[in-house]
Amino acid sequence: MGYDTRVLELPVTAVPGVGEERARLLATLGIATVGDLLSYFPYRYDDWRVRDLTTADHGERVTVEGEVWGEPVLRTYGKKKSRLAFRVFVGPVLATAVVFNRPYLAKQLAPGKRILLSGKWDRYRAQITVDAYRWPGKGHAEGLVPVYSVREGVPVALVRQAVAAALAAFGPHLVDPLPAEVVARRRLLPYADALRCMHFPRNAAEGERARQRFAYEELFFFQLKMQAYRYTTRRNAPGEAKSVPREAVRAFVRQLPFPLTGAQKRVIAEILNDLEAPYAMNRLLQGDVGSGKTVVAAVALFSVVRAGYQGALMVPTEILAEQHRDTLERLLAPHGVQVALLTGRATARERREVLDGLAMGLIDVVVGTHALIQEDVQFRRLGLVITDEQHRFGVEQRRILRQKGLNPDALFMTATPIPRTLALAVFGDMDVSVMDELPAGRKPVKTYWVKEALMERVLAFVEKELAAGRQAYFICPLIEESEKLDLENAVDWYERLRARFEPRGFPVALLHGRLPGAEKDAVMRRFARGEARVLVSTTVVEVGVNVPNATVMVIYDAERFGLAQLHQLRGRVGRGEHQGYCILVADPKSEVGRERMRIMTETTDGFELARRDLELRGPGDLFGTRQSGLPDFKVADLSRDADLLDAARIDAADLVNRPAFWTAPEYAALRAYLEREGVLEGVKLD
Ligand code: ADP
Ligand code: MG
Repeated sequence: MGYDTRVLELPVTAVPGVGEERARLLATLGIATVGDLLSYFPYRYDDWRVRDLTTADHGERVTVEGEVWGEPVLRTYGKKKSRLAFRVFVGPVLATAVVFNRPYLAKQLAPGKRILLSGKWDRYRAQITVDAYRWPGKGHAEGLVPVYSVREGVPVALVRQAVAAALAAFGPHLVDPLPAEVVARRRLLPYADALRCMHFPRNAAEGERARQRFAYEELFFFQLKMQAYRYTTRRNAPGEAKSVPREAVRAFVRQLPFPLTGAQKRVIAEILNDLEAPYAMNRLLQGDVGSGKTVVAAVALFSVVRAGYQGALMVPTEILAEQHRDTLERLLAPHGVQVALLTGRATARERREVLDGLAMGLIDVVVGTHALIQEDVQFRRLGLVITDEQHRFGVEQRRILRQKGLNPDALFMTATPIPRTLALAVFGDMDVSVMDELPAGRKPVKTYWVKEALMERVLAFVEKELAAGRQAYFICPLIEESEKLDLENAVDWYERLRARFEPRGFPVALLHGRLPGAEKDAVMRRFARGEARVLVSTTVVEVGVNVPNATVMVIYDAERFGLAQLHQLRGRVGRGEHQGYCILVADPKSEVGRERMRIMTETTDGFELARRDLELRGPGDLFGTRQSGLPDFKVADLSRDADLLDAARIDAADLVNRPAFWTAPEYAALRAYLEREGVLEGVKLD
């Protein structure tokens, strides 16, 4: 929770009834202070609210109070198993209670004795299958009873009592860590109430309201950090306000070979505003595969060059670098913009030439791999860095650039579909632009899911496309645990496809992760030039590669890929004038696996897909988000609390952007929190 008041910092021994011994037990759960104890939330509630059996539905879980009637019947099976049945009057209903594997209960039952039973109600047999029982009048917790995760030797009741005592003793003195204005605006339960409802809800609705309040609180403090970080970096690392000649940019856009989509125009406008603003742009551009990010990059590069700066485009692989260099040259060279390529393959002389050109300002735009900005590369006046297909260009690279006295605008382009709300959480310190529109007239890739038994028909289809002049990808996944087996699998397929297609004049090539980089590139190039017609690959085909003549993507064992990866792979086809096809060959064992295949066949929209993936699997598994610094939330669940996240982001941004936030005493505690979290390190805030 990250925010403390003096009460919350008291040791648990300050709670009435908690002495040294209990404190020791609580310590084994990681509970040292009153604050730890109060935020040790239950993971579920047992429902000990007594029900009226006459209104209970068949199959419902109920708790009832009844009177034992007649003698119990105990049967045992083997050493450990037993079944105890007895009759019990619950109000007017005479029911049978069945208790498994607790034979000792038989001795405690006597006709006329009252007992509380909790279990599943079988209305047709008038039978309760009991999973818990209690004796009434023993002072047990009633109603919805919180269940806490504990260790051996620590009774749940101890935690329960300690929490109740802490709430009674300190509840009235607790200070809400959330600003009062936010609590009011979002109609959240006030702190002390929320704690009571979280631990001891009177009904499910109270429990849910409390959950939402704490989910919001978690998200708010997370966003407060993000937004404060964003605010302070803007203040402390001001970029140069570039004067972009807007008319020249408009003219450049007008002569492009196609009209821009609405999404492209919108994103370009956002980028131009950032270029002109007196802070360094820090923008993430999420564009679905094929949405046309490259031309957006071209317009941005053109703009900074015309404003008198240089630009750099960084990509993960050499092939992609060459491809982008070609595209940019085609678009920019006619306007007198000098484009150069810098990769590991350059000879010493070529390299020297490019370095000199950059240092002297003869080269306007350079395309290359990561090394581009790290090594001995000196720019005359670098104004914009764009990265494509990798969002790991981060703090470290920026530090290197700043050491060279540069603080360029930065644009990160990615096709990894992440739902907008999640993107805002993960990249909360950035501005996020979204391109969710494909150029007009693009034919969506047709996606089919087939079982392996239909492989022969799949291959016949591939052959038909090859005969029509097209090319095909055949992907066999490689997973680390059985890399060797998988490679054999890929080699097997390679041989099979060769045997089948080469006699008909369609050369097959094999690409796998163990090939040295130069060889990989050579294979890719053969495929790109159409010399190989089928590409068997174990790896995700070089992200972003453009082979418009390839129309079929066969993905073998497709269930072993995540949805985002499948979507990326599918994006490799349907890039030209011809209809693209994606064929998923999979026999998933689980329902979730089958659902994922169905989702792929139902939508080609990356954002829709990401949203459904999030629903299906939760955010932890989403491609690219696990390593991205998204914290593990205790209460918040991003697949259902997207609205809360949005609210928290807006509220946090609103606060940090007020000058008063940084000075007024009422925000001192929030500032102290940011200080503790290291957000304000080295920051001057006057
Ligand atoms: P991605 O966003 O996946 O990187 P690209 O930038 O490679 O997509 O663009 C995919 C294809 O779409 C390219 O051939 C590009 O020329 C074309 N394209 C981009 N924008 C448009 C547009 N507005 N209208 C028509 N075609 C476009
Ligand atoms: Mg691209």
